[in-house]
Amino acid sequence: STSVSSSVPESLQSFLSAPKKLLIDGQWVAAGSGKTFDVYDPATDQVIAQVAEGESADVDLAVSAARKAFDDGPWSKMTASDRSRLIWKVGELIEEHAVELAQLETLDNGKPFSIAKAADVALAADMFRYMAGWATKIEGNTIPLNVPYAPDQEFHAFTLKEPIGVVGQIIPWNFPLLMAAWKLGPALATGCTIILKPAEQTPLSAIRLGELLQEAGIPDGVVNIITGFGETAGAAIASHEKIDKVAFTGSTEVGKLIINSAAGNLKKVTLELGGKSPNVVYDDADLDLAIAGAADAIFFNQGQVCSAGSRLFIQKGIYDDVVAGVSEIAKNLKVGNGFHESTQMGPLVSREQFQRVTGYLKAGLEAGAEVSAGGASLDRPGYFVQPTVLKNATAEMSVVREEIFGPVVAAMSFENDSEIACRANESAYGLAAGIWTRDISKAHRLAKAVKAGTVWINCYSIFDAALPFGGYKQSGWGREMGHASLENYLQTKSVCIQI
Ligand code: ADP
Repeated sequence: STSVSSSVPESLQSFLSAPKKLLIDGQWVAAGSGKTFDVYDPATDQVIAQVAEGESADVDLAVSAARKAFDDGPWSKMTASDRSRLIWKVGELIEEHAVELAQLETLDNGKPFSIAKAADVALAADMFRYMAGWATKIEGNTIPLNVPYAPDQEFHAFTLKEPIGVVGQIIPWNFPLLMAAWKLGPALATGCTIILKPAEQTPLSAIRLGELLQEAGIPDGVVNIITGFGETAGAAIASHEKIDKVAFTGSTEVGKLIINSAAGNLKKVTLELGGKSPNVVYDDADLDLAIAGAADAIFFNQGQVCSAGSRLFIQKGIYDDVVAGVSEIAKNLKVGNGFHESTQMGPLVSREQFQRVTGYLKAGLEAGAEVSAGGASLDRPGYFVQPTVLKNATAEMSVVREEIFGPVVAAMSFENDSEIACRANESAYGLAAGIWTRDISKAHRLAKAVKAGTVWINCYSIFDAALPFGGYKQSGWGREMGHASLENYLQTKSVCIQI
């Protein structure tokens, strides 16, 4: 019997009060240990659900089911066209249940409902539909040979693109449903089978998605969902001998642990990790656009975005105006419960994240950064932090070097074009960058020079299922979305026939 918090929409009550189990081989089952853990509403700090705590033994069962569905079929034996139809259906069901899924995201993660519906849920549906299209377009090549030591022989050679097999997918809490879609989409399109582990802070929408996958007709064992903690369930996935590949999104620190765990059987690894992305405003930019864009780049999703524009570089002549403009927006943002219609920014996801962000604020001020807006937490239940603009920040401060993963931007000024590329690249990370200018040549020059997987010019946080996303440097390995992401789930087999 779960005590359900007062802000929970009535439509979710029955879903929430039913036991939240693991999805293994098409069955919803309790964890082998019988253990559960509490899930919180970050806007109220109240428990909203108890969820099965999967561990290593549960991962073993999920891997057996995924191996069977891959090695013996049905998934690997189904035609690509049949797979495509089922994946498309998942996209349709997500759209059909958009309100409910968005409510679950708001309840579990804290983000404003309107954003959850328009961004998270809509992008998730789109991802499945985009990937449904790719399922039937995975092709190898025919390759003419010219073998120097066999000049008299004739060959017919070609490549096959084959699914990599059973994949483990470990996802974070900032976009719970969307990260599941980014992971599942290409894996299903290529014919892999999956063990998905949602973040312990936000398992609810993945559980609901599991039900929708079943409703769409995805066969038993193709997608298995193990809720649980990183050090137990996550680590068991990363080190499992019978998993062929692991895909992880989360912190750079845990990404490095995943690589070590994966070394045992040399499973393939892709990683989407942290960022500290530069957002560069030149003095010839459309300032209204740039100021609104700079605010959105950091405050979207409470700043809990790996590609957030957290280092704001402003050209000297407009520094004061841009800082004032972004600060004005920060002060006027409506912070509150994501279910309230007026809310523009919700709470942070968890108590732990709240402590982390407020800790960085304290460190920034001690190091000499000045508060231009915000700078404090809100004195009320829930994990609320003010949207914050820090000015006069310098490169050695922790608020400039390290990923805060909260609504905190560090503003710095720069003099000229020749200096900015170097300063923008002064980071261990390389996930994204923003450029605001009316000078198209300048924009192209910096876009080329910046070491980042995504560059947004006169816009920010634009995501599309077709546009690859991923990191340079310590922001990760491989790309998600776009046809680039299919490669993560395929192996190439060369076949050579003597004629
Ligand atoms: P954050 O610190 O922002 O919570 P993490 O990188 O810790 O981000 O978490 C992202 C995902 O990685 C979550 O699903 C989490 O449970 C999982 N995770 C955390 N630690 C490990 C680990 N040692 N091995 C595997 N997965 C982990």
